[in-house]
Amino acid sequence: MNASINIPKHDLLIDGKRVPPGTGNYSTILNPATEEVIAYVASGSARDVDVAVRAARAALKVWNGIRAAERGMILNRLADLMEKNQDELISLESTNAGKPIASVRRQDMPAAIDTTRYYAGWTDKIMGQVVPARTDALTYTVREPVGVVGAIVPWNFPIMIGMWKIAPALACGCTMVVKPAELTPLTAIRIGELALEAGMPPGVLNIVTGRGSVVGDAMVAHPGVDKVTFTGSPNIGRGIMQGAASNFKRITLELGGKSANIIFKDADLDNAVRAGASGVFFNAGQVCSAGSRILVQNEVYDEVVDRLIQRAKEIRIGDTVQQDTIMGPLVSSGQMKTVLDYIDIGKKEGASCIYGGERVDRKGFYVEPTIFTNVEHEMRISQEEIFGPVASVIRFKDEADAIRIANGTAFSLAAGVWSGDIGRVHRVAHALKAGTVWINTYGFTDVRLPWGGTGESGFGREHGEAALENFTEPKTIWLSLTERLGSPR
Ligand code: NAD
Repeated sequence: MNASINIPKHDLLIDGKRVPPGTGNYSTILNPATEEVIAYVASGSARDVDVAVRAARAALKVWNGIRAAERGMILNRLADLMEKNQDELISLESTNAGKPIASVRRQDMPAAIDTTRYYAGWTDKIMGQVVPARTDALTYTVREPVGVVGAIVPWNFPIMIGMWKIAPALACGCTMVVKPAELTPLTAIRIGELALEAGMPPGVLNIVTGRGSVVGDAMVAHPGVDKVTFTGSPNIGRGIMQGAASNFKRITLELGGKSANIIFKDADLDNAVRAGASGVFFNAGQVCSAGSRILVQNEVYDEVVDRLIQRAKEIRIGDTVQQDTIMGPLVSSGQMKTVLDYIDIGKKEGASCIYGGERVDRKGFYVEPTIFTNVEHEMRISQEEIFGPVASVIRFKDEADAIRIANGTAFSLAAGVWSGDIGRVHRVAHALKAGTVWINTYGFTDVRLPWGGTGESGFGREHGEAALENFTEPKTIWLSLTERLGSPR
């Protein structure tokens, strides 16, 4: 029997229907842990995007014709269905993105459901204000949906980051065309189906899979898209900003990071090293807020390095379906090559690769947890986002030195500070150029707290109430209380 008979083939999801791509082409989706083909997925075209945008535009009226509280119930039903189908979603996410299954169950899946429920609760609380500007007029604001939203999602947390965009946009009354990353589209397709099952009208949530340079580009260029919400790399983000200028689209960009995790000599070293190691090696380092620069005060540098090596040795690399696997593969052979190239660059720049540094000798795109010492702040491995399990351990002398090094990259997404001195942790937290600072912990996010950065880390904030501003426009309304309004009274 031909094995390919059992490999699922996925069409686009437009206007509530599965439709084949205009090109007739399907791309091959691999499991990065086994290098086996797990699905064929439609390669959408600019024309498919156009059809999806038109469907989303037509659905705006329908979606906003539904009572806000009812829209919240539909989102809550979607969350219920995600919960009910979570074994399937977890398995899809794990095999598609190469994530250890236990980690998806513990982190990605609950976060995706929590995000959906959180924004379901916002639908009927998106309020304007009555502003007492004058006595002879009733002046107030309402918040209207921005319209059709194009969402472009990366491959490192497909379902979680997907819902970070889908849930608030839909809660605000927007309709959407979602483009998952070409490598990891499987959970987005399923979410689109579950949304229909939850009672979401056709056309509200369209999923157009395909290449970024085709589908993503077409979304950014399309005059019918009012807003693009993008998470991905700074280079693509820059192109999106330029493309969005064509019709003055609103955009939010969640881009890269090169976060510093600063360990002072008076820190609780057990905790600092444990969180420092998971801060950089979690998800095989494919995390925008990875603490990939571990800054360590001179006095404890050697001890921290020894302990980091010990931690790296304890990381169980393995098949993603095994419950006790801690680290899986990188998402693709291309990403593996990028990471191995950076390891070479680090060695050539004169840093010492004291642990790891090699591809793991097994099937799949696995790279060992890797630790560099003797890293100078100016080196490329200290300045550029590697997006793999590579830690640069950098020395610092004192507080001022640590802040200077931490703030010395083009990124500013997140940072960590470890110290027992309450004054110091606050001083440093305030001085750090970062959208999020963790004190004596590392790496947590919560949908109730704003998330984002500045500079090469992008702009705008996701999560919390801040995200509602991304998907609404304030409108000011004047109502004259007299026959004729004159000068202000
Ligand atoms: P990427 O920029 O290569 O791709 C992101 C998305 O953009 C994908 O869906 C891709 O198909 C699409 N895309 C590619 N070319 C495009 C084009 N010309 N026009 C429109 N869309 C296009 O990023 P990636 O490799 O998927 O993800 C890794 C990057 O994402 C890292 O830089 C990481 O730091 C960043 N990231 C940031 C956050 C955050 O919250 N700040 C979270 C996760 C990842």
